[in-house]
Amino acid sequence: MATAAGTELRTELFVNNEWRPAASGERFEVTNPATEEIIAEVAAAGPRDIDDAVAAARACFEGDAWRSLSARKRGALLYRAADLLEQRADQMARLETLHNGKPLFESKIDVAMTVETLRYYAGWADKLGGQTLPVDGPFFAYTLREPTGVVAAIVPWNFPLNLASWKFAPALAVGCTVILKPASETPLTALAMADIMEQAGFPPGAFNVLTGGGSTVGAALVKHPGVDKIAFTGSTEVGKQIMRDAAATLKRVTLELGGKSPNVIFADADLKAAVRGAQNGIFYGKGEVCAAGSRLLVERSVHDQVVEELAARAQKLTPGDPFDKNTRLGAVVSKKQQQTVLSYIEAGKKEAKLVAGGNPAKVNGKGYFVEATVFDQAKPGMKIVDEEIFGPVLAVLTFDGVDDGIRLANQTMYGLAAGIWTKDIRKAHRVAQAIRAGTVWINTYNFYDSSAPFGGYKASGFGRDLGREALDGYTEVKTVWVGL
Ligand code: NAP
Ligand code: MG
Repeated sequence: MATAAGTELRTELFVNNEWRPAASGERFEVTNPATEEIIAEVAAAGPRDIDDAVAAARACFEGDAWRSLSARKRGALLYRAADLLEQRADQMARLETLHNGKPLFESKIDVAMTVETLRYYAGWADKLGGQTLPVDGPFFAYTLREPTGVVAAIVPWNFPLNLASWKFAPALAVGCTVILKPASETPLTALAMADIMEQAGFPPGAFNVLTGGGSTVGAALVKHPGVDKIAFTGSTEVGKQIMRDAAATLKRVTLELGGKSPNVIFADADLKAAVRGAQNGIFYGKGEVCAAGSRLLVERSVHDQVVEELAARAQKLTPGDPFDKNTRLGAVVSKKQQQTVLSYIEAGKKEAKLVAGGNPAKVNGKGYFVEATVFDQAKPGMKIVDEEIFGPVLAVLTFDGVDDGIRLANQTMYGLAAGIWTKDIRKAHRVAQAIRAGTVWINTYNFYDSSAPFGGYKASGFGRDLGREALDGYTEVKTVWVGL
């Protein structure tokens, strides 16, 4: 079937390099959140399909076709996949926008980053080695870095393909095999990627895609004795459940969870840049970004000016057709997510001062849109300050001086990211060290690179995606002793 995006639409499970319907024949609907139209019915995997996928991934992991492939050749497969994805970047971006609702220019950035991530880890494939060890005694001792095994990558709907690549690229680079479980709202680009991986030449079982529910397919993968590692991005609540479920089989787990990241504007900042950074920090990706700068902390003396400019910018940021090249605010991913965001907005209206947005919206009479919303006079203890909303809703808080700013920035259970805006280099670095978060942006916000590790402190999880650090999550260290 061809889609409006012009891509071959894959809707079956991808197991062992074969497309197959769910054994039960069950399917679920995928909706375009900008038009409310059903765009596909995708196979819903069940217990038999899960067993088959795990068996295929295990057989590949233990089999010759994958094991005997040199590290350099594994890298070459990833380079080829990157080239193929680059050739289809336009169609893939359109498909991402179709099921997610994000503006097309954002989807293009997502796909470009996915290409880079594939190339980045392709490059690592033949560069990761062990060490020789200066042990005492008549021994020669060294370490080997070996692949962990079968990896289940369970990913959310906000950056569907990009976040998946943060997991499957390093996993495949080091010689693991992968079962990818995309979010139910956004399964289409993971399936399209399977086509590319097969064409790139990955052997059967190296890369599999199982679509279906989180509490069924996701949970079954977490409990399955044939899976060695869970690489998860998603909510803190599900992250905790995964840790509990993984305990029985002592699975390796890395968790990239939610956030409520502080974006801190000091009075001595370049205010124009800071306001732009605050805007992008919360409204890029409709605020459905785990590192969104959803708590804006502003030093008292510049508070009024910052809020005024920000509110004016938010009011101009009207929701639009995600396929229109001028649109900067797309549709929220689903009706359910729209309702969640609106319920936070209602709570905010009772506790804080609404200065922009605050309403649902439609484009051409349809779609799950939410206006760019800003609340002023927000304080810890309010729902809109303490909880991750995952929508285009900003809470502005005020602080007095550096220590108060640091205290307020850290007054959260999360620790995914933070932003600091100041021209004082000493203050910038001091605050960067004092904030307990996995990423700190100084005089910028929301930038990512395949070489820059990303992940959480505190309730934002543990383990790192991207960078050299991600490779640790997919390898075991073996120490070998030789008596001399
Ligand atoms: P989620 O429920 O945590 O889902 C993430 C992934 O886990 C999806 O593939 C989901 O499948 C799967 N899953 C759900 N329950 C599972 C279980 N018991 N065992 C194993 N896998 C399971 O997140 P969401 O539904 O996408 O969004 C809910 C909230 O999570 C958001 O409002 C936001 O606060 C947070 N979130 C954070 C991030 C982030 O990047 N840190 C990203 C997205 C969402 P289904 O899609 O089939 O449920
Ligand atoms: Mg969910």
